[in-house]
Amino acid sequence: MSTAELPIHHEVSRFLASPRKMLIGNRWVDAVSGKTFPVYNPATGEEIARVAEGDAKDADLAVKAARKAFEGGAWRDMTAAERGRIMWRLSDLIEKNADELAQIESLDNGKPVAIARAADVALVIDMFRYMAGWTTKIEGNTIPLSVPYAPGAKFFAYTEREPVGVVAQIIPWNFPLLMAAWKLGPALAMGCTVVLKPAEQTPLSALRLGELILEAGFPEGVVNIVPGFGAAGAALAAHPDVDKVAFTGSTEVGKEVLKAAGGNLKKVSLELGGKSPNVVFRDADMEAAIDGAASAIFFNHGQCCCAGSRLYVEKDIFDDVVAGVSDRAKKIKIGPGLDPTTSMGPLVSQEQLDRVCGYLESGFAEGARAVAGGKRSGDRGYFVEPTVLVDAPRNAKVVQEEIFGPVVTAMPFKDMDDLIPQANDSMYGLAAGIWTRDVSKAHQVASHLRAGTVWINCYNIFDAGLPFGGYKQSGWGREMGHDALDLYTQKKSVCIKL
Ligand code: NAP
Ligand code: MG
Repeated sequence: MSTAELPIHHEVSRFLASPRKMLIGNRWVDAVSGKTFPVYNPATGEEIARVAEGDAKDADLAVKAARKAFEGGAWRDMTAAERGRIMWRLSDLIEKNADELAQIESLDNGKPVAIARAADVALVIDMFRYMAGWTTKIEGNTIPLSVPYAPGAKFFAYTEREPVGVVAQIIPWNFPLLMAAWKLGPALAMGCTVVLKPAEQTPLSALRLGELILEAGFPEGVVNIVPGFGAAGAALAAHPDVDKVAFTGSTEVGKEVLKAAGGNLKKVSLELGGKSPNVVFRDADMEAAIDGAASAIFFNHGQCCCAGSRLYVEKDIFDDVVAGVSDRAKKIKIGPGLDPTTSMGPLVSQEQLDRVCGYLESGFAEGARAVAGGKRSGDRGYFVEPTVLVDAPRNAKVVQEEIFGPVVTAMPFKDMDDLIPQANDSMYGLAAGIWTRDVSKAHQVASHLRAGTVWINCYNIFDAGLPFGGYKQSGWGREMGHDALDLYTQKKSVCIKL
């Protein structure tokens, strides 16, 4: 493992040097309890920062600040153009600080710094700009009425789109800054006020974003950030003065959030797990399909809700594709995220390392065989070898459950009739991939797959304008695109008798 790491930017050193506080009502404050928690570099397991540990009391203070900001109207009653300008200013500040943000993300999450810069941070900038553009385009409709029990009467009726109110947003650790942007962008464009709870493993980039949010000039209390553990998230999900909760994370916790939201029937949107099928037909461009199948699972170390973790390959090319993907897996350079030659960093935490290794053991116990990888890499940090499994039975845990690590299970199929039921045999329905040169076949398979996103001859393509979300137990609602605004909208019908 190489240790030729980039020097840490002085701005990043400044940021890590002192305990990071939480953002409530535009002020950086300690937790009410005074507690802090450690943040670790997953490449070494060493502590790199301490962060204020928010709990239910802090969540409550943050909700109060967001409520005051919402009712005060400084944000939602601001002109749409001005709201858009502030959001645009934020994207400019993110762009200006992009390299530092990428380093923070790499140190905290483990991902290669070049990828953090080229993918995560770049998408964050686009997301805020895209949503800034929507502020001036939030329109309603006029509706012709023909009320059957009011003959002869004339009405003028229209709809208005209003912000849903105070929003709690709970995000995971796999794309810490990007998930913050997917959540904040549409909520802020709609005029909502927000309490954001980053994941305990990766709170740093959201807190740095909080500094830029203050610099951009958001009014007091519009964005509040409460780092902490699950208890802080649970308190927000249950809070009676929160109007909507948006959650990204595990399906298990998503169900807890849904239950907690029942108390005041707050609106809920969920972006949950996946076990996405990636399908290679014999008429595909083989090089592209093999590269694509490898990156579908190994991008972000497999810690993607949409990872192409079930690889279905047409029978007569199965061995060639498995050999190709395994060859790619063996060539991946594992190392710390700050080493510019690294192509795969560590998993995010000891817990994820144990979890992924546990899945590998269970796979082997159920009959699977590793053609590449299959175990932890090294004995320091949370590295796992990129792994290709074959021979797993259809009901094995490694075929059915979300591993959230660099582990793909490859399975052969005979024909379309054999493929479709297998590909859809999952409690999840987040994404899917198809590799073929046959346009007609591609569209037919795409229409049969029960997934919120289908990539054809590509994988992991994201754009601020393209909706993303799940069928089945992968979630409720769509993030990105104008659909994301709906998650933060109340529609009001106004009817006037003329
Ligand atoms: P998780 O528990 O679902 O965490 C997601 C977020 O929810 C975190 O901010 C978490 O806080 C918070 N949270 C935890 N318990 C909560 C509760 N009862 N009410 C409200 N919020 C709560 O995910 P995880 O434990 O980090 O990862 C476990 C597995 O989830 C992974 O192995 C993977 O399979 C899946 N996962 C999926 C995604 C995705 O994008 N779909 C992302 C991450 C993980 P803490 O960080 O303090 O726990
Ligand atoms: Mg958890």
